[in-house]
Amino acid sequence: MINFKELAQTYKTPLYVYDFDYMTKQYEELKVAFKGRKSIMAFAVKSNSNLSVIKHFANLGSGADCVSIGEVRRAFLAGVPKYKIIFSGVGKSDDEIREAIERDILYINVESEAELLRVELIAKELNTVCRISVRVNPNIDPKTHPYISTGLHDNKFGVEIDMAKRMYIRANNSEHLDPVGIHFHIGSQLTQAEPIYESAVIVADLVRSLMALKIELKFFDIGGGLGVKYNDETTIDPYNYAQLILITLKGLDLTVICEPGRFLTANAGYFLTKVLYEKQNGLKRFVVVDGAMNDLIRPSLYGAYHKIEAITDSKTEATIADIVGPVCESGDFLAKNYSLPILEHNDLLVVHSAGAYGFGMGSNYNTRGRSAEIAISDGKARLIRKRETFDDLVALELEFLQD
Ligand SMILES: *Cc1c(COP(=O)(O)O)cnc(C)c1O
Repeated sequence: MINFKELAQTYKTPLYVYDFDYMTKQYEELKVAFKGRKSIMAFAVKSNSNLSVIKHFANLGSGADCVSIGEVRRAFLAGVPKYKIIFSGVGKSDDEIREAIERDILYINVESEAELLRVELIAKELNTVCRISVRVNPNIDPKTHPYISTGLHDNKFGVEIDMAKRMYIRANNSEHLDPVGIHFHIGSQLTQAEPIYESAVIVADLVRSLMALKIELKFFDIGGGLGVKYNDETTIDPYNYAQLILITLKGLDLTVICEPGRFLTANAGYFLTKVLYEKQNGLKRFVVVDGAMNDLIRPSLYGAYHKIEAITDSKTEATIADIVGPVCESGDFLAKNYSLPILEHNDLLVVHSAGAYGFGMGSNYNTRGRSAEIAISDGKARLIRKRETFDDLVALELEFLQD
């Protein structure tokens, strides 16, 4: 049991707390599910990009799936070996591509024909060969929230099968490109296995037709997306997930790459916030807390549900309230119509499942400094990111002040 009250006293609120032992457990469960096959787990850094979190996974043997050169640099800083670093994303700049090539990472995940040509040009300028994979958009409905669906032609990600094939042929004929992998990632918070299986079938078939053209790939990159329980969702069992993928790869000698983010971090994380006031507008009850949408935007952005636990001495009966923050937006809430007893000033709320897409999606809106982050391992807490101060927030502007 984590002593949230003590953590809030020591480190103040709002505060992010991550259970590193839970992260380890999740990592091992997924890794073991793929045993019997060569596999690399490449932690999706965007889900929680704290350096100590990346390092924790690197120590377990994980690679890193990165979607900006900033994330690639984080992976290097945290000690992820370069041969386990992947760079994905629909809009890589020339500078990002150049740096990724110079850093000699495992491969660049290419998401359009135009990007393939850019990568080739830059590799040529650098007089080298760039390893690539192509992100295939299998046009399968992942049955998740539309904002986190990525594998439909309506979504901006990846390329159609026919285009992918043309790109592999082009890459194979290039002196500056080495096609080594194939990739798909159809969405996040996936709770049904069928769409993943259907996508894997389509992509594995493409691998076979490329083999017929003497284009031999080494890596079958199945992306991330495994859903987790926020409330009462049914989730995909990692073992069954691995089995489904492996069935599609019969007869193919490929290393599986998996890019889990949320699965590893979501339920390892807690967001701690303190009650400031109770207020009532007509019949509507609000609990005003010191954490806000700039700290945790998922409820505002996706209507996401987070379980919220009140640590209080209040013995009153629970009634419905909206839990809202200080930010000047009506969209600033952590929960709507949530059942809670009447709370006192300084009572603590623990927002569960906040380890993925929490801190990283934070902002400084309303000139609010971002929270501190704490790691818990073996029952011990340690600071892994300081709370941002006002001085941090104005540092890049002060020199431009004029009379
Ligand atoms: C976001 C992303 C992931 C991780 O998604 P999760 O749902 O957090 O597992 C993996 N791969 C790519 C390419 C991504 O964009």
